[in-house]
Amino acid sequence: MDIKKLGVVGAGAMGNGIAQLAAQIGCNVVMRDIEDAFIERGMKNIDRFLSKSVEKGKLESKEKDAILGRITGTTDMSRLKDVDFVIEAVIEDLELKKSVFKELEELCRPEVVLASNTSSMSLTEIAAATKRPENVCGMHFFNPVPLMRLVEVIRGYATSDETVAITTDLAKKMGKTTVEVKKDSPGFIVNRIMIPHMVEAIKIVEEGIATKEDVDIAVKNGLNYPMGPFELMDLTGIDICYFVNEYFHKELNKELKWVSPNLFKTMIRAGKLGRKTGEGWYDYSK
Ligand code: NAD
Repeated sequence: MDIKKLGVVGAGAMGNGIAQLAAQIGCNVVMRDIEDAFIERGMKNIDRFLSKSVEKGKLESKEKDAILGRITGTTDMSRLKDVDFVIEAVIEDLELKKSVFKELEELCRPEVVLASNTSSMSLTEIAAATKRPENVCGMHFFNPVPLMRLVEVIRGYATSDETVAITTDLAKKMGKTTVEVKKDSPGFIVNRIMIPHMVEAIKIVEEGIATKEDVDIAVKNGLNYPMGPFELMDLTGIDICYFVNEYFHKELNKELKWVSPNLFKTMIRAGKLGRKTGEGWYDYSK
């Protein structure tokens, strides 16, 4: 399927990155948010990223203008009525996502794939809010979208093979490496692996086995990971990592291994959530 016009719902951190990528491969993009200020912020982010590419000599200034020219920001959902594919990237709220999908289903042509960038919600439940769940799947990008290479394509209960194929093809055209998540399951692949390694790191410190600095040094040098688990938690937000772990505990049979260590909770109670609050496991205030 030739995707010439793409709809992106949500112009936040993920949405504007996705809009940029789509415009870079030649698609016309309609990026929808609920307020003009959010659209402006999204467009500014794209402009900033592309300007840096021009400064580095990776992109011609003419090409930057052409990419920006292919993106239309709007608060009007009906502007998505003639798109060939939609990627939803609104905030992580199940009821909101369900209502967005219902609206999209009524608006878009019946064969259009409706993909969600959710990092944790059930695709089966989002799809069930529509009358054509076979056209709904997960298309999980990573942050920052233009730089991170992976896209997880996730099947809900009713997702068709054709929907998976169209979505995978689009992600590949965007230059991404894709994997198929055959069953809709909490955390898909990457987060299901990432969160336990963070939890184990906290337990090692809590049990007095090593310092957080040494855990980070060990993981970076012994596993060749670019960041240690404490550095990564500070970047992601300790609260977000904690809530995802709590969600795994609830959804994955309340297994003991998903019980959050006390130190995890203490950090949140202390308001030390990582880079965004100036301090987490490390101090960023200076
Ligand atoms: P964000 O808060 O930066 O942006 C979300 C945007 O959605 C906001 O601009 C908000 O105004 C907008 N919005 C809310 N309701 C809307 C509606 N009805 N229509 C259109 N726009 C609406 O959030 P984000 O970090 O970009 O995350 C978006 C999605 O991507 C979430 O589902 C999140 O779980 C997922 N995700 C995030 C990351 C990450 O690291 N940030 C990584 C992978 C996936």
